[in-house]
Amino acid sequence: MSKQKFQAHLGMSDILPGESSAWLRVEKIIRETAREFHFEEIRTPIMEPTELIARGVGQLTDIVSKEMFAFERGDDKYVLRPEGTAPVCRAYTEHNLGQRGGTQKLFYIGPFFRAERPQKGRRRQFHQFGAELMGSADPLADVEIIHFMMTVYKKAGIKGTSLKINSVGDPESRKTYKTALQDYFRPHLDKLSEISKTRFESNPMRILDSKEEEDQDLITGAPKITDYLSESSKAHYELVKKYLAALDIPFVEDSRLVRGLDYYTETAFELVSGDIGSQDALGGGGRYDLLIEEIGGQPTPAVGFACGFERLFLAAEAQGISFEKEQSADVYIVTRGDEARLWALKQLPLLRSNGLSATMDYAGRSIKAQMKDANREQAKFAIIVGDSELETGQFTLRNMTESTEEAMALDELISKITSA
Ligand code: AMP
Repeated sequence: MSKQKFQAHLGMSDILPGESSAWLRVEKIIRETAREFHFEEIRTPIMEPTELIARGVGQLTDIVSKEMFAFERGDDKYVLRPEGTAPVCRAYTEHNLGQRGGTQKLFYIGPFFRAERPQKGRRRQFHQFGAELMGSADPLADVEIIHFMMTVYKKAGIKGTSLKINSVGDPESRKTYKTALQDYFRPHLDKLSEISKTRFESNPMRILDSKEEEDQDLITGAPKITDYLSESSKAHYELVKKYLAALDIPFVEDSRLVRGLDYYTETAFELVSGDIGSQDALGGGGRYDLLIEEIGGQPTPAVGFACGFERLFLAAEAQGISFEKEQSADVYIVTRGDEARLWALKQLPLLRSNGLSATMDYAGRSIKAQMKDANREQAKFAIIVGDSELETGQFTLRNMTESTEEAMALDELISKITSA
């Protein structure tokens, strides 16, 4: 009886050898941008305490109420992290990173998990890059974060994106707005979708996020948060727009863009693309001045963004952008006989220490099969070695693209390959 074959879980994908070079390329762009913007990498565990995520992301969000991969072991409750901000805030607080002085500019790259219904641009394991700037309430920080995010897409060559911005105000502005929204929706409660009804009392701003058909007309006529901003929130928002303009970063204001979580304050933004289907947000973020305190830290103003790799690749594919292919091997050692194989084994480290990508045959194949393999690996050069070459110290260097061969000593051969 044949053994059972396995498949990856629904909504979770392998990143195969032919694809991983594109991921590496994008990661390189992110790291390069982070260096230019002077953000340091932070790596947090894949699992976090469930309570941190519940409090950090918010009990009422879909993420916490429906989509957590959570389990218990002994007395501990674990959740596969569904997002990066709460974990980074936990690490910031746990290690007193604020005590290093100044603002903390951190970025991260990694896998995240949400038990969603998989569809285009929506996976159960997905990958984000994100950045957090902690310890500054200045609108310059908001714009630094947005600029970082935009620069990654620019470097990746993704076109036709649209930056939406809004202000969700300070807690005081939001309190007035919340009342205004409830006053507006109350007479129409019976017309709202079931999900929006449940949000009416606790978090009416999230009704504006609703994708339900029956809510749309009412949402269109709803009061706008920007009409309820306090003087200081208005001033903050004006400065964000002024600084974006100063950097020539185009944006559209969208007063419906609310991040429904209570800890979000002031600036909210989203980067959307028309090329990736109904899940059109490449990324988004905002200010969260109350979060760090909410999870037990000192009050610390902060702002951040998170973007998805999978959607970046969807946009790239739609726009015909292909990231660098896997580097081909620089050199393949083709061996004839056991002595030659031993020699190759010993010379590979030398070639590699010269910065070359070097490989050989690991299956004891014929010369012909090895040459074929070297071609398959797109090797630029092959070194052909057998007993007579070992005796004379003169090795055959084959230029695989030009199909030419020359005999030479090892050091000459290395300099020839490295300078090619
Ligand atoms: P969020 O943390 O929900 O604000 O999401 C930020 C970005 O992460 C989104 O704009 C997407 O690019 C990406 N993202 C979030 N959830 C998923 C998912 N389930 N599958 C793929 N990408 C996702």
